[in-house]
Amino acid sequence: MADYDFDLFVIGAGSGGVRAARMSAAYGARVAIAEERYLGGTCVNVGCVPKKLFVYGAHFAEDFEDAAGFGWNGGAPTFDWPVLRDNKTREIERLNGIYRNLLTGPGVEVIEARARLTGPHTIDVDGREVSAERILVATGSWPVLPPFPGVEHAITSNEAFYLGEFPQRVLVVGGGYIAVEFAGIFQGLGAETRLSYRGELFLRGFDEGIRRFVLDEIRAKGVDVSLNSHIARLDRHGEEFVTTLEDGSTHASDLVMVATGRAPNTAGLGLEAAGVQLAESGAIPVDDEYRTNVPHIHAIGDVIDRMQLTPVAIAEGMCIAGNLYNGESRRVDYANVPTAIFCQPNIGTVGPTEEEARKRHPGLKVFESSFRPMKHTLSGRGERTMMKLLVDGDSDAVVAAHMCGPDAGEIVQGLAVAIVAGATKTQFDATVGIHPTAAEEFVTMREAVR
Ligand code: NDP
Repeated sequence: MADYDFDLFVIGAGSGGVRAARMSAAYGARVAIAEERYLGGTCVNVGCVPKKLFVYGAHFAEDFEDAAGFGWNGGAPTFDWPVLRDNKTREIERLNGIYRNLLTGPGVEVIEARARLTGPHTIDVDGREVSAERILVATGSWPVLPPFPGVEHAITSNEAFYLGEFPQRVLVVGGGYIAVEFAGIFQGLGAETRLSYRGELFLRGFDEGIRRFVLDEIRAKGVDVSLNSHIARLDRHGEEFVTTLEDGSTHASDLVMVATGRAPNTAGLGLEAAGVQLAESGAIPVDDEYRTNVPHIHAIGDVIDRMQLTPVAIAEGMCIAGNLYNGESRRVDYANVPTAIFCQPNIGTVGPTEEEARKRHPGLKVFESSFRPMKHTLSGRGERTMMKLLVDGDSDAVVAAHMCGPDAGEIVQGLAVAIVAGATKTQFDATVGIHPTAAEEFVTMREAVR
């Protein structure tokens, strides 16, 4: 057997790469990981974690208003952007340190440099050539810029976390997770915010009833949602940005952020030198065990273009480590992956949309409820919550749960366990509610609405 420097060389220390590296090392493999940018990848540095901290920050605007109905008086508080931005950055730096320890603890060699494959088993990293029996590409994804003239004046979510000044007027372009979440963040933190989406209704792929519901809620909070909106060009006039739409109308703002998807990071990795083939999208095709067409070169996470979600990349990393170095035969189950969108109010979802479920389950029963959360009986806020359960009419199995309301992600996580375990509607009904909560509605919906 050839003598390699490492058993496993991981490229990219994001959620998936770190998990695969540290678990493989814990199982006894000799592992190195290369990272050119920041430990923890997108999620920790410019994604899930700082985004959630900003969502908390944005929600205080409503909390202060809501407090009056509970007897609290006080002047309107002011918002200090540098405090939030810099406190967030300090927390991210703390997490970077934790990620380093997670890797070095079990003995992973951390190399902070760009890695490039030079052959099927060789990697150039920081001018040094190393060899590895197996290579794992976990290089993640990067924002895609839409092709309108002047797009170079726009920022992406990467820059939104480090703005020098907080803008008074913001235009967010896109209609996916990131656009909808950031529209809520900017609006909550005090910017006059417009969300521009090219289609009929944003959040394509999510349950239509939930999408319509959240559109109404977001508009009620003051976000100017512009649908069927096609940007022709973006011009900069000093500090102001003027967006011209295809219908000739214009919109002025202090900041334009585009959130129009993320593409796999495969450029300049030397994949061709190793013989690894790419799909047309730029993603790396892999089999069930994350093998590329070169069987000892694996890939996981956003770079394989399956589901661009941190917990999915982590599950893939666990699968690689367990199967290669711990004699396991794991598979990641991509059905029923729960997810949340941290717009305001949040969306939490597990299982197919009503539209998809109707195709799969001809006798589908839809249970649905929408109500004003108890807190707002005193706060006076008009915000509502919506919940949906989809039930297979033959087997009585609950196949999906969708929610838009406060803490939807927290609530749906628990329901996801029940759905993955195959719980029936009868079992949901037999479960005693926790009173008074919004979540109890999920066990008290008695009559199917459709
Ligand atoms: P998404 O793929 O979710 O959405 C992209 C959006 O941009 C869609 O609305 C799409 O419209 C629109 N779009 C695409 N191309 C263009 C274009 N040329 N011009 C105008 N609009 C365009 O990408 P995001 O950037 O929002 O997020 C990337 C990924 O990150 C997500 O898929 C998600 O998996 C992950 N993520 C997860 C989060 C979470 O778990 N809470 C949070 C943030 C990100 P259309 O629908 O018409 O194609």
